[in-house]
Amino acid sequence: MTGKPTPMMAQYLALKREAGDALLFYRMGDFFELFFEDAKVAAGVLDIALTSRGEHDGAPVPMCGVPVHSAESYLARLIRGGCRVAIAEQTETPDEARARAKREGTPSSKALVARDIVRFVTAGTLTEDALLDPRRANVLVAVAPLREGVGIAACDISTGRMELEECPPQALDAALARIGASEVVVPEDWPENENAEGAALPEGAIKRARADFRSEDGEARLKTIHGLATLDGLGSFSRAMLAAGGGLIAYLDHAGRGTLPFLLPPTARAGSAHLAMDAATRASLEIVETQTGARAGSLLACVDRCSSGAGSRQLAEDLSAPLGERGAVEARLAAVQRFHGDPLLRADIRAALRAVPDIGRALGRIVAGRGSPRDLGQMRDGLSEARRLRDTLRDAGDLPDLLTRIGNALGGHAELTDLLDRALVAAPPTERQQGGFIAPGYDHALDQLRETSGNARRAIAALEAKYRDETGTPSLKIKHNKVLGYFIEVPAKHGDKLMAADSGFTHRQTMAGAVRFNSLRLHEEASRIAEAGAHALAAEDAHFEELTAAVVERREAIAATAAALARIDVSAALAERAAEGDWCRPEMQDEPCLEITGGRHPVVEAALAKAGDRFVVNDCRLGVEDRLWLIGGPNMGGKSTFLRQNALIVLLAQAGGFVPASAARIGMVDRLFSRVGASDNLARGRSTFMVEMVETAAILRQASERSFVILDEVGRGTSTYDGMALAWAVVEAVHENLRCRCLFATHYHELSRLADSCDALSLHHVRAREWKGDLVLLHELARGAADRSYGLSVAKLAGVPSGVVGRAKAVLDKLEKGRAETGGLAAGLGDLPLFAASAAAQEERRDVLRERLHGLDIDALSPREALDLLYELKREA
Ligand code: ADP
Repeated sequence: MTGKPTPMMAQYLALKREAGDALLFYRMGDFFELFFEDAKVAAGVLDIALTSRGEHDGAPVPMCGVPVHSAESYLARLIRGGCRVAIAEQTETPDEARARAKREGTPSSKALVARDIVRFVTAGTLTEDALLDPRRANVLVAVAPLREGVGIAACDISTGRMELEECPPQALDAALARIGASEVVVPEDWPENENAEGAALPEGAIKRARADFRSEDGEARLKTIHGLATLDGLGSFSRAMLAAGGGLIAYLDHAGRGTLPFLLPPTARAGSAHLAMDAATRASLEIVETQTGARAGSLLACVDRCSSGAGSRQLAEDLSAPLGERGAVEARLAAVQRFHGDPLLRADIRAALRAVPDIGRALGRIVAGRGSPRDLGQMRDGLSEARRLRDTLRDAGDLPDLLTRIGNALGGHAELTDLLDRALVAAPPTERQQGGFIAPGYDHALDQLRETSGNARRAIAALEAKYRDETGTPSLKIKHNKVLGYFIEVPAKHGDKLMAADSGFTHRQTMAGAVRFNSLRLHEEASRIAEAGAHALAAEDAHFEELTAAVVERREAIAATAAALARIDVSAALAERAAEGDWCRPEMQDEPCLEITGGRHPVVEAALAKAGDRFVVNDCRLGVEDRLWLIGGPNMGGKSTFLRQNALIVLLAQAGGFVPASAARIGMVDRLFSRVGASDNLARGRSTFMVEMVETAAILRQASERSFVILDEVGRGTSTYDGMALAWAVVEAVHENLRCRCLFATHYHELSRLADSCDALSLHHVRAREWKGDLVLLHELARGAADRSYGLSVAKLAGVPSGVVGRAKAVLDKLEKGRAETGGLAAGLGDLPLFAASAAAQEERRDVLRERLHGLDIDALSPREALDLLYELKREA
């Protein structure tokens, strides 16, 4: 039967239309209920019962529900499961609905409580403590692709930080990988497919109206939010940045249904301020998570000794975006050194930081209007602790600039902390409705109200004793419940005594074993309690609003204090880690060198230590004269480990930390590249060799003389001849064209002949020794080419049956004999002119371009034609 939907169903369907693809949490009394497809999805993710309620279009309506009081934990699971949720609350009480129905002339039995979506809960717009990981920033990103560049707006609404940047289309992936957003929004007209010129649509992005991403609107909104006439004082923002900022704010507006969360003034991120790394490099170095997505086993987990969640979040950000300017690195290193050299101060600071609440996130909730008395209490405690920390730092004296600056940002809240100190009880509750958070002595009128209700309570207790006496019923009790309020209760057998007309008691209710009464005196006292209670609650509520306003007014200074606390935590934690692992302060240089003495891979070292094994330290010496090391040696010999340890040392140093080595001289690196031969990447869908080549091509296009590149078994993803030829060409290109520092691990012996033609290239190998027929890997780097491949010994080590190894040996002998006779796989390669052919081709192309430019009548071109032509010329160049 297809009938008209019930009024409730009609209301539901209208709200669902508004919710779009978000799951609709429909409030029904003490439950949020979900219907239709939403119910099926939620029941699946939450693993709760799917039932049905009523019919729609002749079919039962699937339904499931979660209790309101525990909704947060269900929300958390849904969000983690990749869902978004729209919360539809009741916006009037049933009484109000009935009154409204009466006014409108509809039968009150049909009165439907009005409901409205009050908020969208999405991965990037959470502020609830329970839904957030204290050690991870929760970042929402909006991306606006404009013709001239892609704008990115990133913000962590739990702390209000907002950053705008612009990048070329092909660098979008790298930027998003660095940011690690929980949610990305883009304009709806972004093409689904990757195209050669434009940026690829970020995975899982949420599409919003194109009109949300207008740069003028973005600029206007930012100005209004921060009460500024111009944004110039904050930095220089491009059109693309502002368009992204506009998209971000519009989405926050939508999610909060018109209530914006706390946003700090945006900062502009400059490209050169940071060490650039693309997504593949980040993944292969396992900086903040391993390739399988776990925190354990990452560089971050190995380094993180932070005392607070805010510190851990800052450290993750520092490691994700190491610095690009030497001065900034030195400033951080000096702060770490101060704590490194003073273990007592370090211990004091770290202990103090452990006691500091997360004021950054408390501030986020308070400003968003979702703060609780407990958040105000955290603010009081956090700001007071911050001031004590400032004093500790000042007393310690001899502070480097960064710590002096931080010290200043820690104080300045005396007035606010005094106010909160006076106003709040020691441990304010998380619920605001029940009151009880304003301290005695803060508000005289409130104290009096509390006294009144306290007196009345005592009067009621006295009344109970009196009535027991008078009626001779020791089992008489005065009780309270929500329906009756206060009442007198006696066991049924004593009921008659109080029923008497002149007893002064009025009968209210007869239960199975008891009878309940009221009395005039009791009624009076109860009214006094109720009235005083209601007034007291109203007074507390008003104080809550005042205190919240006082915090909101100082939000920027508080956010600066929160940032300062996080920075101190990171500095002290890095010092702690350095002391623990015997790490050293790197000496930063401007010339392109990389001289590491006694270097270690921190993660591998920690793993070995757990198993009781020792890590073998290795040196690295790259400079202008010797900038490319070709590293050979057996599988499992430690090549990858060596490559990565040097990349990680650079990364740690530029993030401002000490490094796992006994000494380090590091020339500032502008871009760091790490590539691993593709054979492990099968899961990614694209042909592994294709992936490897795409990633290698990116290096060849982007690396500069100041970059540092590690290439691990590049060319492995294809047949021997192809692979070796490619590896050969890549090494040549790095040596001749890029001229950057590079470590290249390979098992192709033939490449060692490159040492003859490339003068800044040297040969190295990881040592191994055959001992009583077994292979011993020494994990020690030595100069010179690897003498042989040891492949069969490694196979034996790995447990390949000896029969098979024996047969392989016979085949190998035959192959090697053949190779010796023909001059080997690389025969003739030594005479290959370096890049001569490609250089000639390039010159030829330039001539063609020059000719075309000469023949051009620029004035005859429309702007559109000019643009198209530019694209065309660029393709040909
Ligand atoms: P390769 O790249 O040469 O195949 P890896 O770098 O992957 O070798 O190293 C293989 C294993 O050898 C590592 O997992 C580690 O356990 C051990 N290893 C590597 N380098 C060292 C070292 N310097 N000291 C001790 N053990 C090491």
